[in-house]
Order: sequence, then C-alpha cells, then structure tokens
Amino acid sequence: MTSPNAPHADRYPAGSAAFPQRDLIALAGLAPWEILFLLDEAEQWVELNRQPHKRDDRLAGLTIINAFFENSTRTLLSFEIAGKRLGADVVNMLVAQSSVKKGETLIDTAMTLNAMHADAMVIRHQSSGAVRLIAEKVDCPVLNAGDGQHEHPTQGLLDALTIRKAKGEFAGLTITICGDILHSRVARSNIHCLTTLGAEVRVCAPPALMPADIEALKVRPYYDFDAALAGADVVMMLRLQQERMSGQFIPSPREYRHLYGLTLDRLARAKGDALVMHPGPMNRGIEIDSNVADLPGRSAITAQVEMGVAIRMACLDVLTRRSRKVEGWA
Ligand code: ASP
Repeated sequence: MTSPNAPHADRYPAGSAAFPQRDLIALAGLAPWEILFLLDEAEQWVELNRQPHKRDDRLAGLTIINAFFENSTRTLLSFEIAGKRLGADVVNMLVAQSSVKKGETLIDTAMTLNAMHADAMVIRHQSSGAVRLIAEKVDCPVLNAGDGQHEHPTQGLLDALTIRKAKGEFAGLTITICGDILHSRVARSNIHCLTTLGAEVRVCAPPALMPADIEALKVRPYYDFDAALAGADVVMMLRLQQERMSGQFIPSPREYRHLYGLTLDRLARAKGDALVMHPGPMNRGIEIDSNVADLPGRSAITAQVEMGVAIRMACLDVLTRRSRKVEGWA
C-alpha cells in the first residue's frame, strides 16, 4: 500500500481559515479543503506513530475527556492513545461506571464535565444528535465519536486517509459500500466525505436496510451485490447492526451471507487490485469471509486502525489550536 501523497497546501487557506469549525460533529457540510486539511495534518502523525519514540508534547497540560455512553473498543482506545501521544492528560468516562446509570440527564452530565475544565471532549452516544446537543452546552471543542445512526466523522476521515494512501486521488475512484446502510453512521460519514472529495460512491444493501432517501446523498443504490462490485476500486463492508434493529430486517445470517457476504469469488468482480475495508467489529463468515478480511495486499482493515490514531491526533491538535493560541489560530 504505497502511493505518494502530494501535499495539498495550495488547496486550503492559511491559519484557522483552513478549518474554521469549533467542533467536529459531522462530515456533512464540510468543504473539500477542510477535509483535505485534516487528512494532510494526519500524515505527520502516521510517520511519528511508526517511530519507536511516539511522543509530541504539544497538548501537554491539556485535559481531554472521552465520555462514552455507548460501548467501544477501537475508537475509545484510539482516541486515548492519540491524546496521550500528544502529551495531554486523558480521562475516560465510561457510562457503566457513571452517574448516568443513576438517571442523571445528558445535559447535567455535560455540565459536570464542563465544570472540570476539559480542553476537549470526545463523546459517543447511542442517540443521533446527542453529541451536538452537548457541544452547544459546553465551553470546549467537542469531537463526535459516533452518535446513533447519524455520523462517525473520525471514521470517515480515517477511511479516506486509508484510501488516499493506497489509491491516490479520489476523483475517478468507484467505492462500493455494502451492508447495513440504514443503521450505519460509518456509511453516512463515508458517503459525505467521499462524495465531497469527488469519488463515485455506490451503496448496496437488502431493500429493508437501504434508507428510502439515499439518492439525495448523491450515491447510487444497488440491491444486487455482484452488480455493485463490478469494476469497484474499493469495497467497504459494514456490520449488521443488530443492536439498532427492532424486528426482523434480514431472513437469516446464512441467507444474508449468500446474497451480500464478501467472498473471494465475489471480490473477483471488483478491480483486480480493489481494496477491502471494514470499520470493525467484523462478523466473520457473515458480511465478510475470513480469507477476504485477511487477504494480504488487498485487505486494508489493519491499516484503517493505524490511520485512526493519526486522524484523531490531527483532530485533537487542530481543534485545540485556538485555546492554545497557536499562531494564526488565536
Ligand atoms: N465501530 C463502528 C461504529 O461504531 C461500526 C460498527 O459498530 O459496526 O459505528
């Protein structure tokens, strides 16, 4: 997975104009150059993270609170590592151990965290819109680590960085996203990100798992996986999000795999060098076969995890520049 990444400094304005947002709640509505700016910022952290000494102290003295109201493995760990590699004090609030279980309201929790003078908050919540609500109440920048079915912006960015490193420019790429589109915040963030950057995005799902208004997002819907795969440069598989389903959305996991599972035979319909992606956690043997998920030179699944730390370092650095009074950002 090598490909040159030409710096895009000529594509965005200098200083804080490159990323004027206070928070990172969604990729919908961001300009292409705002996204490119974050991807470019992450490149230096990809390099640092490959060194034995992975430390830059630019966030020393800052407190970052990761407040996770919904379970997470890789996103929580990735944000924690990102904050620590930049020298910040990182505190995790996991809902199972918090007063939220005692009935405290979301806003009371937010105000409590705010009173502790966090310099940035990273929030995951099971309800779409909850992270924006918190961002409106607190004084520091807020980063959305996934809110319900709405968005997971750092996942969209890390996927874009993974694709750029393997394939170069986005214009001219065909990217197929297949799986539980309806319940997937990862799909939504990726759709906004990749279409904004100029890629052609196809989405594929059984009819019950395809949002009714999907074409409004400038993607082409497919119900036949083989047709959706034809000539694709990137195949992104999504998990069936059973926890967000009320009722029966698929006939059976076996039937689902038969129609929408990524097998080696199916992958052959995409381009010969098509990249395979999955945000995790994977249901091996359902949406993706193990021999595809682990396919050397083609599977980017561990690269996605690696890019995740770099992207989160970039986002934490950029969003705290104002409070750190970095030149051009004060
Ligand atoms: N980890 C991703 C998310 O939090 C994808 C998934 O759970 O399937 O949305």
